Amino acid sequence: MTNRIALNNIDVVTLDDKGTIHRNVTLVVENGIITEIGDSADGQIMSTAVDCTDKVAMPGLVNSHCHSPMNMVRGWAEDLPFVEWLEAIWVAESGITPDDVYWAAALGAAEMIRSGTVAYNDKYFYMDRVADVVQESGLKAALTWTVFGMGEDTEVGSGLDETIDWIKELDETSQGRIKTYIGPHSPYLCPENFLRKTVDLAHELGKGIHLHVAETQEQVDQSIARYNLRPVQHLDSLGVFDLPDVTIAAHTLHIDEKDVEILVNKNVIVPHCPITYMKLAMPFPSIKKCVDAGVQISLGTDGPGSNADMDMFAVIRQTALIHKYQTIDPAMISGDTALRMATQTGAKAVGMSGHGMLKVGAAADLILIDMNAPHLRPVHSIVANLVHCVKGSDVCDVMVDGNWLMRNRELMTLDEEQILYEAEKRAHDIVCRGQKQLRQYVHD
Ligand SMILES: [Zn+2]
Repeated sequence: MTNRIALNNIDVVTLDDKGTIHRNVTLVVENGIITEIGDSADGQIMSTAVDCTDKVAMPGLVNSHCHSPMNMVRGWAEDLPFVEWLEAIWVAESGITPDDVYWAAALGAAEMIRSGTVAYNDKYFYMDRVADVVQESGLKAALTWTVFGMGEDTEVGSGLDETIDWIKELDETSQGRIKTYIGPHSPYLCPENFLRKTVDLAHELGKGIHLHVAETQEQVDQSIARYNLRPVQHLDSLGVFDLPDVTIAAHTLHIDEKDVEILVNKNVIVPHCPITYMKLAMPFPSIKKCVDAGVQISLGTDGPGSNADMDMFAVIRQTALIHKYQTIDPAMISGDTALRMATQTGAKAVGMSGHGMLKVGAAADLILIDMNAPHLRPVHSIVANLVHCVKGSDVCDVMVDGNWLMRNRELMTLDEEQILYEAEKRAHDIVCRGQKQLRQYVHD
């Protein structure tokens, strides 16, 4: 039987090439696809008609770089410089178990659905358990199992070989619903030979790579001292940007003209996570030269240990604000630019090309925002209100492939009560275990 849903009396921000906005129309979804947007939709034969007065529909958001299970350390290592923060987090995370990752990922999924994210690009450990959450939640995702190389031959944590089995199995069982990447942590934590191995593996499995690049000037200086090359050029020399699938180079903040040229020519996607940089007091330049040159900049929350939440509307707003401020140019990241970074460009990172636009024939991956709130009135410009006023909590409904993941602010696929209970209990256990392990290690 055809599953037909009509969203009546709705305003639609399409984010199409012309930036079309439809006011007070009907948007029809049939079997997961948008089949009509306009006045003429026939209300007589709808299986479900939904009144959407005072609601705005827009493409669902894509969180293009995050570590969703890091919500377990949210608020645990505050007010520390980047390196000290990283060390403190690693101590806490050393106590995490696969079951903890499952509940942490479920907490992240619940938060993302509630704040309008429909797809995410997640990078962490025990990703088999994160994949379970993706399947159960109905979200779309690309997953990366992080691997580290230390020294010439030593791998830390899960090795590359272990992740191969996971990737092959997931490719078979998810039938293309979940994309996977090879996940070396970064050029500063993975030696040259280890990175070469990940490139070989990407070719063997037909994959891309998702890693962290050039987050600080110190990392750039270190790379030049070690390899006589800046991080982007070092990775390029190893073939990290010439893979069967795209390369996701998260952050890539400290770059020169030659780096920019490489990022454009090699079609690299660069997730930008400004709230993390500001919270950890990491100086970063404006993305103006990247935007002007055509680098594909998407947006992400990064891990909630550093953001410290997963609200993509906050990232959209902060991206517009910080780059206006840095360039002293109010026209920087203007209009719907940040919305497109958080939808269309992010979609390329999770393998959903064509996503990020509400049009006939597109998958019904959309969110509804309740504009009936004091901070969202008046509506001179829907786009301006979406960029500068909407909060994740204004999202009232979320649909992926025509299925409701949230309806009238109620989660439809996840048991929120149990998730909150498990997450709270486990977060404290994880941190205690991590500290105990560190004390044992120091003592031994
Ligand atoms: Zn990250």
